[in-house]
Amino acid sequence: MRKKIIAGNWKMNKTGTEAASFARDLKIKTISINKTEIIICPPYIAIAPAYEILKESRVKIGAQNVHWEPSGAFTGEISAEMIEQSGCKYVIIGHSERRQYFGETDQSVNNKIKQSLTTSLYPIVCIGETLQQREAGKMKDIVKTQITAGLSGISVEQMKRLVLAYEPVWAIGTGVTATPSQAEEVHHFIRELLAELFNSTIADSTPILYGGSVKPDNVKELLSQNNIDGGLIGGASLKVDSFVELIKTAEQF
Ligand code: PEP
Repeated sequence: MRKKIIAGNWKMNKTGTEAASFARDLKIKTISINKTEIIICPPYIAIAPAYEILKESRVKIGAQNVHWEPSGAFTGEISAEMIEQSGCKYVIIGHSERRQYFGETDQSVNNKIKQSLTTSLYPIVCIGETLQQREAGKMKDIVKTQITAGLSGISVEQMKRLVLAYEPVWAIGTGVTATPSQAEEVHHFIRELLAELFNSTIADSTPILYGGSVKPDNVKELLSQNNIDGGLIGGASLKVDSFVELIKTAEQF
């Protein structure tokens, strides 16, 4: 059985001091959690202070982005090896905000996944359609293209380290959540696609998270769906109490 994962994407929020204070509080409040995988993804410079506090806990750290080259003249960028060495287990790749504001494409997503897999990092790869694409009936085509191109050249062995996050762009930070059945339909479609592209074991074992205005009051219904293995959470991951509520709900499954 796939374990539940609750991952917080802090985006451009929290200083190192604020991250450390959150980490101390989170560590205490999740002491009784023993099944759910808990991940926080602070901004790069808040990773070290959070890791220092959480390294002996079950809370894992992720970065929000990575460069596709191992090193070199890329001012302002951070490599997979640097992320790995700072204590991260995970890295988010292809978040819709990066696609929208920073020109990320399926090709750059693919390159970033491949570079991350040269280290011990586990990529959390985001996919999802815009409202316009959904209304035009292209939702499945978009998701299929993003996955097929994004995962091109990734081996079955490497797939064992991948996490997918289905995040309909129209539901991110808007307060509008996909209904559990809307989300489940896409998650089920993604699993069928993984079986086609890889095999049925990969399809069954790859964690697929849902993201888009997940909150304590809707998380239970979302996590009750057969193919939803957890959440990638923006807004509700910024306050320890709401984040812990999500984790405690996930722990009940
Ligand atoms: C996200 O940042 O990936 C996200 C889903 O944000 P929110 O939960 O705020 O919609």
